[in-house]
Amino acid sequence: MHVDMNAFFASVEQRCSPALRGKPIAVVGSAKRTVVTTASYEARAFGVKTGMNRFEAKMACPQIIFVVGDNSKYIDASVRILEILNSFSPLVEAYSIDEAFIDITGCLAPFGTPSALAMEVKRRIKEALGLTCSIGIAPNKLLAKLASDMKKPDGLVIMDEASSPGVLEDLPAGELWGIGPRLTEHLGRLGIRTCGQLGRAPLSLLRDRFGVIGERLKLMGQGIYSNEVAPAGHEDEARSVGHSTTLPADTSEKGAIRRYLLKLSEMVGARAREHGLKGSKVCLTVRYPDFYTFSRQKTLPSHTNDTRAIYMSALSILEVMRLRTAVRLLGVSISGLAKGSGQMSLFEDDRRRQRLLEAMDEVNRSFGGYTITWGSLLDEGSGCDDETGVISPAWRPVGVKRINVK
Ligand SMILES: [Mg+2]
Repeated sequence: MHVDMNAFFASVEQRCSPALRGKPIAVVGSAKRTVVTTASYEARAFGVKTGMNRFEAKMACPQIIFVVGDNSKYIDASVRILEILNSFSPLVEAYSIDEAFIDITGCLAPFGTPSALAMEVKRRIKEALGLTCSIGIAPNKLLAKLASDMKKPDGLVIMDEASSPGVLEDLPAGELWGIGPRLTEHLGRLGIRTCGQLGRAPLSLLRDRFGVIGERLKLMGQGIYSNEVAPAGHEDEARSVGHSTTLPADTSEKGAIRRYLLKLSEMVGARAREHGLKGSKVCLTVRYPDFYTFSRQKTLPSHTNDTRAIYMSALSILEVMRLRTAVRLLGVSISGLAKGSGQMSLFEDDRRRQRLLEAMDEVNRSFGGYTITWGSLLDEGSGCDDETGVISPAWRPVGVKRINVK
């Protein structure tokens, strides 16, 4: 079963403020240059979409109400939803802040049918949080995710082995979970546009073009998918840790770009340290105002989660990039992750450095992000005042405990 909350951020805001209910609203970040993170269904009816800037949203819907996102509300709602789902099955995988997979194979008996169980899940979430969700039920995660997407809002779609071939036959391949725009384009060049075509494509062709994932793609086209629901603690290790930010204004000023890189490196480093992860590759992503986006990565001499090491690599990538225009967005990530061994460094300098980072993280955890930060982030009008963006939808409330405050 895949549960996908409907217009999550916007719906949470509408629950919290009755004045917003039934109105076209858009949840945005507080930075000057912000985009719509989620639009309410009322706003979507006017054509307001995720990713539009304020101006575009206003053009589409003059009476739109912009609401600055409040991450703590969404995290709280997300954790409460997971608690509800966990009361149905122990096998719950928090996939993103508003989506989860639940293996319901072993817990159907009290409900009789999958749809009766799904209706009860919907009822409990609605009762506790006043929110609606779309649910898809299928033999595997790939089809369940597809099914939940087929009816919104408040949908329930059950897809079994008998009905899935009919659905997949003419479905554009890009609609499948995991097949992004780039892959869709590559498939298109091979003349493969639908899942039906993908499922029938010669394996040798797919292998030649896509290597080891070729076989996986063919199976996906046939609706076959073997990944199990992975509850917290059992999920695949994160493959990368990254942050990106749209700058308040396009800039080609080196100093400003460096400060953003340092800040992003610190966000990445702090998150990696929090999870005890170290990366062996640093990747820098740059987007130009025309949305042309590219990434370059660099392999490090050893695994690290040190802000400075990440920053220095990002900087060295930037130096060889030769930016051709001003920059709209910057992103920094590390990959090639390994669990930090916690191994003591041989060198006193490194040990001091490690203790410094630990102390900084500790203070920032207790007193809020950037209570202690790097001097270069405090430079005159660095413009680094935008850590008020709305939480990434990919954020997962793993290991977050809800605390009831009376
Ligand atoms: Mg959703």
